Amino acid sequence: MFPLSTGIAIVAGLGLGVIGGLWAFYERRDRGEGAAARPAARHCVRCDAVYGAPRTEGSAPCPRCGHANPALRF
Ligand SMILES: [Zn+2]
Repeated sequence: MFPLSTGIAIVAGLGLGVIGGLWAFYERRDRGEGAAARPAARHCVRCDAVYGAPRTEGSAPCPRCGHANPALRF
């Protein structure tokens, strides 16, 4: 067997590898071609409706009142 500190280092390294892999996956997904196809959440400042519209449009009209709203940014 190997010492306990070596086991802790292996487990910590595997954990960091998994987190790094997930980070790279989601960064690639959010910046790739699929990002434009997914709808962006929008909030209407006039009637308080929340709706989705394609990300390619700068501002999209509200389906309830027709006011143009930009996509929400998080
Ligand atoms: Zn509205």
